[in-house]
Order: sequence, then C-alpha cells, then structure tokens
Amino acid sequence: MKKQILLFSAITLMAVSVQAGYVGNRSSKKFHAESCRYANCKDCTVKFSSYQQAKNAGYVPCKVCKPRPKN
Ligand SMILES: [Zn+2]
Repeated sequence: MKKQILLFSAITLMAVSVQAGYVGNRSSKKFHAESCRYANCKDCTVKFSSYQQAKNAGYVPCKVCKPRPKN
C-alpha cells in the first residue's frame, strides 16, 4: 500500500514538471502543453514558459490538451 502511494506521488510530480512549458503552433496560432500529442508537429516551434506569455503573443489554448494557467 505504501509503495502505491509513493508511486502515485512520483507520477504526480512528473505530470507537474511536464506542464512547465508550452509550445505554440506558428501556423494555427494555437498553443499546447508540452505533453500534448500535437505539440510535436512541424509548425509547433514557438516555446512559451507560461500560459500568460502564450496568450499575450496572441495564441489560443489547444482544445485537446486544454492548457491552463498555473497558480
Ligand atoms: Zn494540444
């Protein structure tokens, strides 16, 4: 039981670190969480370090990965 809890915490930590960055698609003007399956497309070459930075650049959140601002 204790092992399961530890494993769960490790996964949660990984998930949080994956959310650290965002990737913008310069052609569609959408941005993705780096973990999104569309974040590796050929036009996804713009990097953002925050949700607000992506929004300020005129990008809209992807409807698949739904990037959200961090608190
Ligand atoms: Zn996405």
